[in-house]
Amino acid sequence: MVDFAADAVLVLLDVTPQGTLASSSAGLVGAAGSVGTPVALVVAAPEAHAALAAAAGELGAAVVLTADLGGADAALSVPLVDALTAAHALVRPAAVVVSNSIEGRDIAGRFAARASLALAVDVVGLVRDDEGVVAQHSVYGGSFNVTSAPTFGTPVVTVRQGAVDARAAAVAAPVVEHLEVAPSGAPAAMIESFQAEVAASSRPELRGAAKVVSGGRGLGSQEKFVLVEELADALGAAVGASRAAVDAGYIPYSAQVGQTGVSVAPQLYVALGISGAIQHKAGMQTAKTIVAINKDGDAPIFDIADFGIVGDVFTVVPQLIAALQAKKA
Ligand SMILES: Cc1cc2nc3c(=O)[nH]c(=O)nc-3n(C[C@H](O)[C@H](O)[C@H](O)COP(=O)(O)OP(=O)(O)OC[C@H]3O[C@@H](n4cnc5c(N)ncnc54)[C@H](O)[C@@H]3O)c2cc1C
Repeated sequence: MVDFAADAVLVLLDVTPQGTLASSSAGLVGAAGSVGTPVALVVAAPEAHAALAAAAGELGAAVVLTADLGGADAALSVPLVDALTAAHALVRPAAVVVSNSIEGRDIAGRFAARASLALAVDVVGLVRDDEGVVAQHSVYGGSFNVTSAPTFGTPVVTVRQGAVDARAAAVAAPVVEHLEVAPSGAPAAMIESFQAEVAASSRPELRGAAKVVSGGRGLGSQEKFVLVEELADALGAAVGASRAAVDAGYIPYSAQVGQTGVSVAPQLYVALGISGAIQHKAGMQTAKTIVAINKDGDAPIFDIADFGIVGDVFTVVPQLIAALQAKKA
């Protein structure tokens, strides 16, 4: 039986359909490591446990708990909630950290409700004070930073992908313990069938991407939006868009960045022909470096841009692409 550190922080790591740790994992373990000793929980098919445990150790997990996911219930989040409940009872952590992915939010919400614990969502950092772990949030379109902490019990937090730069030191041989999870039979929504939509794209996924190039209404049409994709490919970036651009049908809704779309926190965010409405900024303002190209020098996007070019995207961007390609050559 493992003795868990008093400052243990339980981290549920997302596992991809390919059986590897999701790209959000390093930031999650890093966030946990900044306030305590990371204890990772991976729920996967048994044959994947060893490789996942080693990968979690490389990211800095001192202890890795493994639990079985499989069978007909593999697409359901409920076994993950059961596993998290069992891990929480075993570790008695100072905080529970989950990815702010769609599935992560679902699991964290169900777990917090089941365990009667406080839930803090879309967290961009963790710190500690005398009373325990405190979550940091970026709110009102990134205009304010606020903190939240529970008045009792362990906080359950979902961490925004890409928001945490801290990385924990690698652990060469993490302690690995298998967790037997008895299905709780708790009532839950059932997914009776689903159809996976395979996106045929070699570009990085928007959520969690290190670089994002987004286009707005200024691109003018679906045909001209290709310019955004060309710059994204030259940079190896994911493609995003403003709501005006997706509403106009330039690109599918899944690319929308902002309050009612995807929140991103990449190293580099390039905004092309985007005015910078507060609802758009809400989803990208925590990017480390923001570059804006807009022909209106008074566009609000320039208020938050680290680098701005006042100009026509159809003049500036082809030159940018040519310069990037020349540099690569
Ligand atoms: C409840 C609610 C939720 C919302 N959620 C979101 C959200 O999640 N995400 C989001 O993005 N928006 C959201 N919006 C909409 C938001 O308010 C703005 O309407 C939207 O972001 C504007 O998109 P845009 O910047 O592409 O378009 P516009 O505001 O029309 O800006 C277009 C910009 O392109 C520039 N431009 C035009 N032609 C060129 C050119 N050739 N070269 C360079 N620049 C050019 C213009 O100067 C202008 O600044 C929401 C709104 C509401 C009310």
